[in-house]
Amino acid sequence: MSPRRTDVLVIGSGLSGLIASLLLARKGLRVLIVTKDEIDASNSHLAQGGIATVADLAHDSFQKHRDDTLAAGDGLNDPAAVDFFVQRGPDIVAFLRDMGVQFSTRANGDLDLGWEGGHTERRVVHAGDITGNELIGVLKRAVFREHLITIWQHHTAIDIISTRKFLLANEDRAVGAYVLSHEGTVVTVEARAVLLATGGCGRVYLYTSNPDVATGDGVAIGFRAGIPAVNMEMIQFHPTILYHEKVRSTLLSEALRGEGGVLKTRDGNTFMERYHPLRSLAPRDVTARAIDTELKKRGDDFVLLDMTMLDREFIVNRFPNLFKKCLDAGIDMREDPIPVVPAAHYMCGGLRTTPEGDTCVPGLFIAGETAHTGLHGANRLASNSLLEAAIMARCAADGIARWLGEASGAPAALPLWNEEGVSDSDEQVVIKQNWDEIRHCMWNYVGIVRSDKRLERALKRVSLIKQEIDDYYWNFKVNRDLLELRNITLVAEIIIRSAMRRKESRGLHYTTDHPGRSTEARDTEIRREDIID
Ligand SMILES: Cc1cc2nc3c(=O)[nH]c(=O)nc-3n(C[C@H](O)[C@H](O)[C@H](O)COP(=O)(O)OP(=O)(O)OC[C@H]3O[C@@H](n4cnc5c(N)ncnc54)[C@H](O)[C@@H]3O)c2cc1C
Repeated sequence: MSPRRTDVLVIGSGLSGLIASLLLARKGLRVLIVTKDEIDASNSHLAQGGIATVADLAHDSFQKHRDDTLAAGDGLNDPAAVDFFVQRGPDIVAFLRDMGVQFSTRANGDLDLGWEGGHTERRVVHAGDITGNELIGVLKRAVFREHLITIWQHHTAIDIISTRKFLLANEDRAVGAYVLSHEGTVVTVEARAVLLATGGCGRVYLYTSNPDVATGDGVAIGFRAGIPAVNMEMIQFHPTILYHEKVRSTLLSEALRGEGGVLKTRDGNTFMERYHPLRSLAPRDVTARAIDTELKKRGDDFVLLDMTMLDREFIVNRFPNLFKKCLDAGIDMREDPIPVVPAAHYMCGGLRTTPEGDTCVPGLFIAGETAHTGLHGANRLASNSLLEAAIMARCAADGIARWLGEASGAPAALPLWNEEGVSDSDEQVVIKQNWDEIRHCMWNYVGIVRSDKRLERALKRVSLIKQEIDDYYWNFKVNRDLLELRNITLVAEIIIRSAMRRKESRGLHYTTDHPGRSTEARDTEIRREDIID
């Protein structure tokens, strides 16, 4: 199949991918968006809370937003990156409103500002409790209207084509990517610049609030292209998602506990009093650790969130969406305690970039959750991630346009995908088995509470699986399951190795062997040569 040519290849259609694509097209550039599923399958689409920004200048200030972000990040943020994002907040919200995003307002027309954990002021701009739905809806419609943008849904990017890897030139440069189409063929896309906007990696873990597409592909793809991964051990776990055989990834907001919901073990006893004076209202990380400890101690699969003592009418009026979601799953929260587990929610680390999305590989840019800019440090302040994704996308669009103005032409011919000697997989069961094994292993050994021994065990198992998958990858025709498995395995290994390097407990990384915090805050950095030979 002959290569497909475009100016910019954007991989991913979440908040960062869509904003960047629109702005690039407005600069007169041809954009090809490839996205793994439907256009709106993304973390961005699921966002509930909103975007943190200083909007009420009578009470709030950039300094306060900065201080709150640094306090959450536990000494590991890059203060310059924090300033970069905090100061651009009001401008990005104005930009989104200009695009047509309808944020919730008060009777006087001012933005309605939410208050979330870790913030000392009201500063979360939102669209009801479905902010992501509003953002992606508006941007999606704009993208479909733009004639310079082509969208390939159900297409999975496999790897970046770089001049270094294929000996096309002396200097290293991204010139395209291999993409698996929904028909199972691999297309060579030739692009003058590539933007990775592929989101997070929640599905590396057994329980996650993230959708199926969040398999850390961008981290794996960029890492294989030579970009170092930073602070990947800093995975944020949400304390309560619904535990259900069929209904997955339903986040049960902290507001349920805020209004009086109580956490209990399966036998109906409370336990949070043993972990924090605020009991069920303890901070997010303490609650997640407490639940994890109880589950491991008792061998249970879930704990209960009991709302049954609250007024029946109040429950329905205050939580209409969650009440309905639980009811659809067969749980009437007015009568039955809700089974819950903590779940992987957000990747605070990522691939090293500047806040503008530049990387060490010329022509390859990154925006959003895949990137590590230094904003979040060891723990993300609530609602700072949409802020980061939107601002990065806008800056990356400018950076890409600049790069295209300066870069020389593409190399003569890109190598096509080579399928010589490969056959159809006859053992799809191997892929399923390894998927399950990685996710269980990461949950049990590299989850909320870690130890040296658990990390060593995890690394051994993941290394074995990696060998098996490598064989598979080179000998059989690729499909989406195999590509994702290859990526989650690499990302799992990066997380484990990062966690092994951090001999302290800080922010989201808690290990029983090194419970104290060291005096010096250092990033962990894993490079390609540490893992891939
Ligand atoms: C339930 C939930 C609630 C949240 N609430 C908030 C909130 O209120 N405020 C806040 O600030 N943050 C929130 N977050 C985090 C925030 O939503 C994300 O960090 C942010 O949306 C990431 O945007 P993104 O553009 O980087 O990635 P995403 O929105 O995740 O988009 C990634 C895209 O890449 C595509 N993709 C991935 N791999 C490939 C591949 N190999 N080939 C092709 N396409 C690929 C996916 O299909 C998807 O389209 C929440 C997250 C979740 C899961």
